[in-house]
Amino acid sequence: MIAEAAKDTLRQRGIRLTRQRQLLLDLLDKSGQHLDAEALYQMAHQKDPKLNRVTVYRTLKLLKEGGLVDELDLMHYTGDQHYYETRTKQEHAHIICLRCGKVEEFYGDPLHKLRRQVESMFGFQILIARTEVGGYCAHCQVLRSQEVELARRTLAEAGAVEGRKPARKKSS
Ligand SMILES: [Zn+2]
Ligand SMILES: [Zn+2]
Repeated sequence: MIAEAAKDTLRQRGIRLTRQRQLLLDLLDKSGQHLDAEALYQMAHQKDPKLNRVTVYRTLKLLKEGGLVDELDLMHYTGDQHYYETRTKQEHAHIICLRCGKVEEFYGDPLHKLRRQVESMFGFQILIARTEVGGYCAHCQVLRSQEVELARRTLAEAGAVEGRKPARKKSS
């Protein structure tokens, strides 16, 4: 159970897992999503109206430093926002669609293999590994090719493409 492991880890660092900290950790763990601080605050505030933003930010920092929560930027697809997830999950890579923002998680042996290769090749002791892949999901590829095609046609009609010919209006 996350609660027990978390309490132990925090206790070793002299950090008390207060009721509010526990609530935030639980929400993060159970959501199964990558929440930013504001989204987490909104969820937590519904459960405990006394909880404020400052507590959420401080707690996230604390949990991060305590090694219980990972901070991700997910290729910054929405700006400088950071996202959080509990570290209880197995190591995984994040695959982020830069158009719609969908995040998929990739678990699998290749990640462990890569870790072992890096460790043996560089004699490196890995403490943290983060893999992020950015691109377009299958759905967005279709939409994008439509957008590109539309843009191309608009440009062509404006005469901007075919050798700077002056724009000519089609008679229809
Ligand atoms: Zn997408
Ligand atoms: Zn994740």
